[in-house]
Amino acid sequence: MSKNEKKNRRRKSHAERERIKAKKATSGASYTSAQSGTAHRHQGPEIGPVDGSGFGTDRQAEMQTASALIGACVEKCRPCQASLADKVLAGDRLVVASLAGTVYSLLPSPGATCSPATRRFHTVAHDTGRPGYGPAVLAAVEELSQEDLEALLEDTLDLWAAAAGTAPAAEAGTPDQEAGEEERDTHRYAAASGTAYLMSAGIDQLLSVQEMQGLVEHAEKSAVSGDPVVCFLCDEPIDVTAESEVHVGVGTRTLAVDGRQLDTVQPVWTHPGCGRTRIWPWPELMAERQRRGLYVAPEDRQPEKPPVPGPRNADYTHFSVARQPGGGMVPLVLVEPGEPDEYGIEGYLAARLSEGFKPVDLGGGQPFPVLDGWHLRCERGRMVSVMRAGGGAWYRQEGGYATPGNWRQAARQRTALFLVVPAGTVGDREGDDWLAAVSRAAEAGHVLGGLVAVRGTLS
Ligand SMILES: [Zn+2]
Ligand SMILES: [Zn+2]
Repeated sequence: MSKNEKKNRRRKSHAERERIKAKKATSGASYTSAQSGTAHRHQGPEIGPVDGSGFGTDRQAEMQTASALIGACVEKCRPCQASLADKVLAGDRLVVASLAGTVYSLLPSPGATCSPATRRFHTVAHDTGRPGYGPAVLAAVEELSQEDLEALLEDTLDLWAAAAGTAPAAEAGTPDQEAGEEERDTHRYAAASGTAYLMSAGIDQLLSVQEMQGLVEHAEKSAVSGDPVVCFLCDEPIDVTAESEVHVGVGTRTLAVDGRQLDTVQPVWTHPGCGRTRIWPWPELMAERQRRGLYVAPEDRQPEKPPVPGPRNADYTHFSVARQPGGGMVPLVLVEPGEPDEYGIEGYLAARLSEGFKPVDLGGGQPFPVLDGWHLRCERGRMVSVMRAGGGAWYRQEGGYATPGNWRQAARQRTALFLVVPAGTVGDREGDDWLAAVSRAAEAGHVLGGLVAVRGTLS
């Protein structure tokens, strides 16, 4: 499967996140290294402070962060690119105006692959003879939306990094993959140090293959520079040269930048012994650190939740049939928990992605994903369990659930579509209401699942 196909498969609920990520793919700004426990520096070009007078303002701007950012781009250190780009984007726009103005004033054309924002900026920046040129360039940058600013910075960095000379790509962290086995080996990376980096299931919904590779490179480089990555669940360094396996999960966190919501994804390194690799919603990760007696910043502290007493609502299990993109009917099972996840919808989705569930497009545009190695078990036509790859029941119903006749009919092909949704999505709706609620959830990216094998007896 090509990378593009994979990207297109991603969920609409991630659309915003994906849009941000797509723009940041080159600068790598979709995760931050703030918590990665390393503090190495990248040497960029010498750029002195910018005197704002040329831009019609009396303030000055320091360029050290921008310079280090260019250095990180040249050395392809994605975590540093990410955190430094975030700093530049949140800082004085005079810095971006100066960086971008410098290169785009010189270029006769903005470049074929640049963003629309950059193309517009170029028309201003290239017109060096106009009256009030400097203030116009600064104004053009100050007018940009945060998103367009990111796009302009990304295009600008490409030019600066190219000008500063591109270092050969690091040898470490080449994905350990055979042709045609990309899907299966997506989660395991062999590195030069001999360590295997085990990525959480579902991480490919949040990071590109290049970004995952970048994480491995970062850990390897940090080890060599004597400033190793630190385990999120014990705060001890991870010696990648001594560990046979390093676990790489991600934490998702929504930050407010300039009054705008920005989804960030950051690496969560763990010793294999400290915890399994997974996708962590930020509050859950903080709660886990708190539980382990590790430092948690005051603003990140989680309230202690007492166990919920009393009877809990049972899960909803709904049987139906669905049309497969490309034709044919497939039996469908949708399971919705009766009680909300402790960490809300994001918490529920993160936990399921970590288990291997995949985003499902119910709009007919994409084939249903396959949950490799999973199966659903029927006994005499009653569904009794759903088994995960590698064994173990994900779901079990004592005595089994009765299934409708058209469902069993469709199940004769021995494949079913197994779906899960967060609590409160569908409830006990039936018929058209049920369908409308599921469609809304799918639009929002809240439907996860995939095709599973059907085993056992159907009659
Ligand atoms: Zn770095
Ligand atoms: Zn640890």
